[in-house]
Amino acid sequence: EQVEFRRFFHHVIDRFEFNKEDHIQFQRSIPEDDMFVHIDKDKMTQVLDNIISNAIKYSPEGGTITFQAIRQEKQQKLLIKISDQGMGVPKENMEKIFERFYRVDKARSRKLGGTGLGLAISREMIEAHEGNIWAESKEGTGTTILFTLPLMKEKRGDDS
Ligand code: ATP
Ligand code: MG
Repeated sequence: EQVEFRRFFHHVIDRFEFNKEDHIQFQRSIPEDDMFVHIDKDKMTQVLDNIISNAIKYSPEGGTITFQAIRQEKQQKLLIKISDQGMGVPKENMEKIFERFYRVDKARSRKLGGTGLGLAISREMIEAHEGNIWAESKEGTGTTILFTLPLMKEKRGDDS
């Protein structure tokens, strides 16, 4: 399905912003222009829901969650970055967090709840969209989840 990502992204973020607690701040850096991608909206909503709920869940002390969308014209890609100021992920676990059932530090994670499937499913879905997903993090400073999607050259046919 052909989707204008800017509007779609704002819509998903709005839903979380409406329900968030006051100690979490949201900050958006999303260009004004249209960005068309070919995505399954339901699946992409699941991907974003998981990344955003992780950002909130693993920031127990609050902080700012930053949402960025960057057009990479040369590579015809859209880069999405979601950053938090939470507990972070130790360097040696950075790839493992995308594995099924993997959770950093069982004790700390058990308290926060979850199965360890969210990011594994997100990776599957992003790869099915011909994109890539990875993480950057500093323990104690925060985490950034990044993913790419192929950009459509221009809008074709009907808007959605
Ligand atoms: P589920 O998403 O299935 O409810 P989960 O959140 O534990 O459970 P994932 O979303 O796959 O599972 O994340 C895997 C692990 O990666 C988490 O348990 C957590 O340890 C770590 N992690 C993920 N996102 C963050 C983040 N933003 N900050 C710190 N750690 C994170
Ligand atoms: Mg999760």
